[in-house]
Amino acid sequence: MRFLMWLLLGVLVVFALRKKAQNLTRPAEPSQPFQAPPQEAEFATTATENAETMVCCELCQLYIPASEAVIKEHKSYCCAAHADQS
Ligand SMILES: [Zn+2]
Repeated sequence: MRFLMWLLLGVLVVFALRKKAQNLTRPAEPSQPFQAPPQEAEFATTATENAETMVCCELCQLYIPASEAVIKEHKSYCCAAHADQS
């Protein structure tokens, strides 16, 4: 009976280690575009150079990748229409 307990414990340890190994070997997920909460607006509007960063539209506050943003007079917009409206 004691042998069964040790066997069960060993199986549990193996499963735990395999789960841990999967977490370690899993590649980092690529950054996805996201809707940032309003409190991050200040940070987003200042970062317009890096293509990986998100920027905030000056008009509608929509977050878009900096590479897709329309830049006008050092301000970022989600589309040309909003850049023209400012
Ligand atoms: Zn906009």
